[in-house]
Amino acid sequence: MTTIRAIRGMSDILPDESERWQYLERTVAGVLASYGYGEIRLPIVEQTALFRRSIGEVTDIVEKEMYSFDDRNGESLTLRPEGTAGCVRAAIQNSLLGTVQRLWYSGPMFRYERPQKGRQRQFHQIGAEVFGVVTPEIDAELILMTARLWRALGVAEHVELQVNSIGNSASRQAFRAALVEYLSAHHAALDEDSQRRLLSNPLRILDSKHPGTQAVLTHAPLLADYLDDESKADFVRVRELLDAAAVPYVVNPSLVRGLDYYNKTVFEWVTDRLGAQGTVCAGGRYDSLVEQLGGKPTPGIGFAMGKERLVLLLEALEAAPAAVPAVDVYAVNSGGGAEIAAFTALETLRSALPGLRIVQHTGGGSFRSQLKKADKSGARWALIWGDDEVANATVTVKSLREQAEQVALPLAELAGFLQRGTAS
Ligand code: ATP
Ligand code: MG
Repeated sequence: MTTIRAIRGMSDILPDESERWQYLERTVAGVLASYGYGEIRLPIVEQTALFRRSIGEVTDIVEKEMYSFDDRNGESLTLRPEGTAGCVRAAIQNSLLGTVQRLWYSGPMFRYERPQKGRQRQFHQIGAEVFGVVTPEIDAELILMTARLWRALGVAEHVELQVNSIGNSASRQAFRAALVEYLSAHHAALDEDSQRRLLSNPLRILDSKHPGTQAVLTHAPLLADYLDDESKADFVRVRELLDAAAVPYVVNPSLVRGLDYYNKTVFEWVTDRLGAQGTVCAGGRYDSLVEQLGGKPTPGIGFAMGKERLVLLLEALEAAPAAVPAVDVYAVNSGGGAEIAAFTALETLRSALPGLRIVQHTGGGSFRSQLKKADKSGARWALIWGDDEVANATVTVKSLREQAEQVALPLAELAGFLQRGTAS
């Protein structure tokens, strides 16, 4: 029989690695809470139309990366490729938009991409969105929050902030026309992808990595020269606020982002420690998206960070705390009445010390082989139940990590003993 394997680009995260994931999630949740962001939990599946309308028809995601399928009733559904669209949908549907909203979400996203290090088909993001703030201090707040996050995670020295303004839709249209005119004159020097994008999504050519295309781009018109006055002024303000907070950044004039809904401020955090998949967090403003999805006009801004890439970065920098053994106590017994005594005593112990991680040996075997397993588990103590312990209502505690005599304790003293032990 052939064995069934996971889908290409969709990975299992094993207990060893999940320590690092939990550290990331805990740390991010703490920082988001400290800025007053509330968690929103969203469905993984949405109507396909939601993503077509928000991300844009001629983007890579909608053209070739979505996992879409027909529901049993014929309705077209899609596994979410990103979180912003669903969050906006939920904010409209649940009438959240009357007041300023600071929201965050976390979970899996799906894109049919070529799997490689830091690029999966099922990947995971933590994202934040703010609705209802038109002024640029919120742009700066979001960026400061991410900067704090990198400090909290211990990766701040290895990420660089890139910012740009892509203006309003009129200024982008004027720029697009100038860019298309210029690039059309150099059509032959462009890579195939960029030639195709010239017709569909020319702004995306700006972040092409192709050397020939890059060479052509050095003399291309600059988006900055086409910005409307408001976008320009807001971008100046964002930079002032970043300067005031002493958050370093570089202005990257070719930063455009791959989704259609962005305007004004866009930003990315990039690391050089992960090879080609170096962007760990990306976001920007999207002031027309709410209206585009049927809500009353409400400005929005947000970002999403890729958890796989951040976990890889934590690993590369050895920035996460060392994996701790998942067990504190491993209990062994000689079967029969001793097994029952252990069972009930361990339940009492779990109630008394809810933080203690207790594993009861299963499957029998000699004390010798059970104690071997206790040692391998990484536990600090073995608890031993045999005939003597049952007869005397005691338990024997054996320290597995320190040189100490094993002691027989009355059951009533067990919790106190282990508690003093964990405190030391
Ligand atoms: P990239 O240019 O790397 O494809 P993107 O611009 O498509 O990224 P966004 O849609 O802005 O990415 O998503 C925000 C973040 O989510 C990215 O910066 C990255 O960290 C992460 N991310 C995006 N796609 C993937 C993927 N396929 N696998 C792992 N992480 C991803
Ligand atoms: Mg992408």
